[in-house]
Amino acid sequence: MGDVQGRNNTLAKAQKYTVTQFNAEFPNDDACLAYIMEQRFPGCLVTCEKCKEEHKHYRIAGRKVYSCDHCGTHISPLAGTIFEKSCTPLKLWFHAMFQMGSTKCGISAKQIQRETGVTYKTAWRMFKQIRTLMSEEIALEGSSVEMDEMYHGGKRKHGTGRPAVGDKTKIPVVGIVERPTPEKKGRVVARVTPDVKIGTMRGLLREYVLPKSTVYTDEMKSYIGLETMQKQVADRDGKKQWKPLGYRHRRINHSAKVYVMGDIHTNTVEGFWSLIKRGIGGTHHAVSQKYLQEYLNEYAFRYNRRGVERPMFTQILEQVSERAV
Ligand SMILES: [Zn+2]
Repeated sequence: MGDVQGRNNTLAKAQKYTVTQFNAEFPNDDACLAYIMEQRFPGCLVTCEKCKEEHKHYRIAGRKVYSCDHCGTHISPLAGTIFEKSCTPLKLWFHAMFQMGSTKCGISAKQIQRETGVTYKTAWRMFKQIRTLMSEEIALEGSSVEMDEMYHGGKRKHGTGRPAVGDKTKIPVVGIVERPTPEKKGRVVARVTPDVKIGTMRGLLREYVLPKSTVYTDEMKSYIGLETMQKQVADRDGKKQWKPLGYRHRRINHSAKVYVMGDIHTNTVEGFWSLIKRGIGGTHHAVSQKYLQEYLNEYAFRYNRRGVERPMFTQILEQVSERAV
């Protein structure tokens, strides 16, 4: 694992959840199933489809279903969840989620394969499903945000610089991070984009950044003129009008080797990039364009919850019923 397990990869104290705790709470598949049942239907109380009333349900031994104590109709707590169609034991799913919540930099499917003995394909598919739990749409709230771009992949050895002319293998990623305040750690939005042209950058600002925010960027040309940006807003009669966004813009001149000038810097967003670079570079090796957004979502999920005083594993687990359809 090399540098992936470096000291910056440890989580905040309140989020610590050890493998011993994990194995005690989830010793087997039954414990995992009972947890999901309780999460989705507290007290095993379910409105029975047949009785049309709320009744206590009891586990049917040897099967992943619960039965209405009034009429015997079965329900599956896994229906509509990422586990529904899987033959992989629940305990292994939980183990994979536990591992994904245990680092800042993520772990690879290879590691889960080694630890649990599932095939690489199974491990990879589990991760893909778990990442769906970790993708979310947020609007940023901070009044100060940093916006920056990086490049993933490509042939050049130092894979994150701007692409050489004609290099189409580099995938642009744009990140916007709220600056932290004493009350709140900043959150991030990171998107794979077709390019880093002015229209793309402005589209992301309109979508994610509140009016009147201060936007810190480097000197790239696509950021020029942010102060004059407008957004179409519908008035009371539903008529659309262009309204000024009122952004303030602060730029740092990286090409002149200036990286910090007072509070004018993009160090916060660069901190997020370094997680991505260490993680995806060190752990996942080659990530194709197709899946890069899913990886970014996974990293953003952890980053955006690093100040929450519950284990990251619990926070991933909570999404199982949140996302059940
Ligand atoms: Zn019933």
